[in-house]
Amino acid sequence: MLQINNLSKAFRGKQVLRDIRFSVAPGEIVGLIGMSGSGKSTIAKCMLGLEKPTEGEILWNGRSLLTWNQKSSWRQAIQIVFQDPRASLNPRWTIQRSLAEPLINFNMASDKRSKWQPKELDTRVQQLLLEVGLDERFMQRYPDELSTGQCQRVCIARALAPGPKLIVLDEPLSALDVTIQAQMLVLLKELHATQQVSYLFISHDIAVVSELCERVLVIDKGIIVEDNTAQGLIYDTKHAYTRKLLADTP
Ligand code: ATP
Ligand code: MG
Repeated sequence: MLQINNLSKAFRGKQVLRDIRFSVAPGEIVGLIGMSGSGKSTIAKCMLGLEKPTEGEILWNGRSLLTWNQKSSWRQAIQIVFQDPRASLNPRWTIQRSLAEPLINFNMASDKRSKWQPKELDTRVQQLLLEVGLDERFMQRYPDELSTGQCQRVCIARALAPGPKLIVLDEPLSALDVTIQAQMLVLLKELHATQQVSYLFISHDIAVVSELCERVLVIDKGIIVEDNTAQGLIYDTKHAYTRKLLADTP
């Protein structure tokens, strides 16, 4: 489904990604771990088309992101959830609008030939809220009337709205306290079981990654040094850097 080949990225001559290659299959949950500054978010941004690779290619079902003329299908297929949920919601928009906007943009009405009817749109927004454990009372609220965890649920609902095949979760739990993190992990597992979606789960927390992910990539200074199963990561560690990450984990 997603295939990254020889991806390199430099900012003003400074190399931050080198020869990155990996793939994500339909329904797979892939973890990406590494220390701060190792290049995790830069990979995410390249996948979303927010940064242009210096070298290499990103393919979706064999088609290149850089040359693909149907950019809107690409934007629909891959969605992202960022670390800071409050900063990634428009503070002037109600939750209803934040969730309706991606539905309208991608024209995902049940009858694909027609536009959304207002009632149908509200029903779908309500459904999205329910999928992330919120109810219709949140529709008319603004982000500053929600807790950080509730904002992150809205961001996940917004990512689900266009019916993506892959969601990139860039440290989605880091801004949340531990009990909320545990609830969010349960939610992400439930959504994965009910929606046909893959995750690329970015984190520097090896414990969280090995709980959620089937396969884990380890990145050190812009290079993927290990591509292993979650079990293998702990019991059959391939690289010294991973051993160091494990040793640093409480
Ligand atoms: P963190 O865990 O702190 O989020 P990360 O692994 O996501 O870190 P990136 O944000 O991908 O790291 O950054 C990798 C490197 O690229 C860092 O050294 C960063 O300073 C640099 N970098 C990222 N974006 C830019 C940019 N737009 N211009 C210049 N340098 C950048
Ligand atoms: Mg980052």
